[in-house]
Amino acid sequence: MHWAFVGASTIAAQHMLNAVRRQPGHSVTWIVSNSPDRVQTWAAEHDIPNATTDLQQALTDASVGAVYISSTNEKHHAQAMAAIAAGKHVLCEKPLGMTQDEAVEMVRAAQDTGVTFGTNHHLRCSGSHRAVRELIASGRIGKVLSLRIHHAVHLPDNLQGWRINSADAGGGVIPDIVVHDADVTRFLLQEDPASVVAQMTSSGMGQGVEDSCMSVWTMPSGAMVMTHESFTHPFAGSGLEVHGTEGSIFAKGVMTQRPVGEIALVTEAGSEDVPFSDQDLYVQGVSDFVAAASGQGRPAADGPDGVKSLSVALSVREAAATGQRVNINYGGF
Ligand code: NDP
Repeated sequence: MHWAFVGASTIAAQHMLNAVRRQPGHSVTWIVSNSPDRVQTWAAEHDIPNATTDLQQALTDASVGAVYISSTNEKHHAQAMAAIAAGKHVLCEKPLGMTQDEAVEMVRAAQDTGVTFGTNHHLRCSGSHRAVRELIASGRIGKVLSLRIHHAVHLPDNLQGWRINSADAGGGVIPDIVVHDADVTRFLLQEDPASVVAQMTSSGMGQGVEDSCMSVWTMPSGAMVMTHESFTHPFAGSGLEVHGTEGSIFAKGVMTQRPVGEIALVTEAGSEDVPFSDQDLYVQGVSDFVAAASGQGRPAADGPDGVKSLSVALSVREAAATGQRVNINYGGF
């Protein structure tokens, strides 16, 4: 299958080109960007045969079967709607849109058109997260009481642009990282958060958007979830803990783009290390998407998953802005 990449972005260069090229028979044949200079440079640097600033030009290429969108967040909706209208399968970066309405419209359009739609939530493609999910599902820790996610990182210098300065482009730690934590929570606990309370702050890294957030979520089962996201923490590390009536899981260093970290399961019998597979998260995500597009299985995270992670994140922002508990509405999904 031939792919058009929409967005001359860092994530495309660092992870997604390789992820597509690792699929047998798949290649990236178009790069689409808003900048005539950047698109030419990007195509040359990454050995892509066609470069354009006109999305329609790539979409009218009948040999293109799939579109991967990794532009800044405010562009996702229009680009995805155009790709769906052209009958292409779409793998879109998180957050799917700026608003829940945008995300719902994209996912409904894909459903109506019959194309495959995936949301690029990479963490559920990691061996570590899949191992934690399996431990919980198999009852090793009994009834889940709580989940704590530590996802306070330091935004690298090269990414300190729109993410910390531009609300209009969808900046802020909530659309950037809370969406991932919402997806991880839903993936691990297999239920959707019901309500949230939250606080956020801008501590000076950027302007106009929050760079740190803490929130507490209630789950339908009665489990409690606590998450911490930030762009400003150089030495905090990352991880998650799941505590149950029969045991606790400590997964250290696993909120990351790489297949690293360690997992310990602690029960009455003591502490044991939990092995997990080390596949590349993005290769796995594209592999799941490609299989779904050919009629086998579903994307690792599909369209409704993307609507739901955005819905949680927007509720966290509303709760932090108002100081009120927010009951989450999932836009009909
Ligand atoms: P970048 O800032 O690297 O790129 C975003 C856009 O900014 C590009 O599409 C490009 O626009 C423009 N741009 C890139 N470089 C420059 C430059 N030097 N000067 C001016 N403009 C530039 O974004 P990311 O790769 O960090 O993020 C892109 C999307 O991917 C976001 O939606 C983000 O949330 C998501 N993401 C997802 C991750 C995941 O693991 N799932 C990880 C990281 C990001 P144009 O295309 O018009 O040239």
